[in-house]
Amino acid sequence: MQASIRHDWTLTEIQDLFKLPFNDLLFKAQTVHRQHFNPNEVQVSTLLSIKTGACPEDCKYCPQSARYDTDLEKEKLMEVEAVLEKARMAKKNGSTRFCMGAAWRNPKDRDIPYIVKMIEGVRDLNMETCMTLGMLSKEQAITLKNAGLDYYNHNLDTSPEFYGEIITTRTFQDRLDTLENVRSSGMKVCSGGIVGMGEKANDRAGLLKSLANLSEHPDSVPINMLVRVEGTPMADNEDFDHFEFIRTIAVARILMPKSHVRLSAGRTEMSEEMQAMCFFAGANSIFYGEKLLTTENPEANQDMTLFKKLGIEPEKREGYSDEVTEAALLETVTEAQAPSLFYDAAAN
Ligand code: SF4
Repeated sequence: MQASIRHDWTLTEIQDLFKLPFNDLLFKAQTVHRQHFNPNEVQVSTLLSIKTGACPEDCKYCPQSARYDTDLEKEKLMEVEAVLEKARMAKKNGSTRFCMGAAWRNPKDRDIPYIVKMIEGVRDLNMETCMTLGMLSKEQAITLKNAGLDYYNHNLDTSPEFYGEIITTRTFQDRLDTLENVRSSGMKVCSGGIVGMGEKANDRAGLLKSLANLSEHPDSVPINMLVRVEGTPMADNEDFDHFEFIRTIAVARILMPKSHVRLSAGRTEMSEEMQAMCFFAGANSIFYGEKLLTTENPEANQDMTLFKKLGIEPEKREGYSDEVTEAALLETVTEAQAPSLFYDAAAN
């Protein structure tokens, strides 16, 4: 029987899923996964930081915040043509979606014409487009949608209860409002969170409850594991239990059966075996490239080697016959030595 799509999960139900014996939980998640997806395909996105650092927000995990003294090199908004050059490389290396991230509280109206040109240019390359630019007004969301933006990323980060411990410069409700503006404009929503920030198990359940009980599930759900960056208030956080991370992926898969669950920041600290477990638990999307936002990410060719070992193919989209196969991708990446310019907006 197909799992129903629900938006009324209670915290107790979600906590009970987390408490299942590990094998039972993974079996359940894999069963749900197979009802909606090819279990041997993983969607591959590339993300570029189009404006890096000097962000006025105070997210405690983030090296891009201007409030923390990190080694991050700040960069102004990139020129449109430079962004499109990176998009062409990403396409050549097999990405089907190009995500562009800017460390802003929100885009200013003066930035919008450049943003629109970037969206139009990437669309012309026959790639899906995604952006993460901070909070978005209703009007801005409509403008970006009309320019051809497919996805907008804006994470809830954590549970409503723990949220105030992590960020004080914008509220949980601000985030929900942005998601509503994005959804009502007709764009697809990408929203997830971060674990390992010192939250309790209840907060992980609360984050997933908030995502699963949105009026529509996010199309993509990135689950990030905190990357502890020197200079941020979370640099000395304790190691996060890997089994608990895999459980979080599995519960996300069960709660949001049709969403792409993305294995996101923190992948560099995961062994191949752990990544394989995450795929088995229902993760079916990754960022591909050498860097994940401002933190390291396993090199793209390592990703493709792992895919090969596991018999996984990059997900292809219907109607896009020009997308490369895994074999061709592996060859391309090995030859080109994976570009060193891609980042993930685990942020925003
Ligand atoms: S997570 Fe986003 S909003 Fe928060 S400090 Fe980093 S770039 Fe700014």
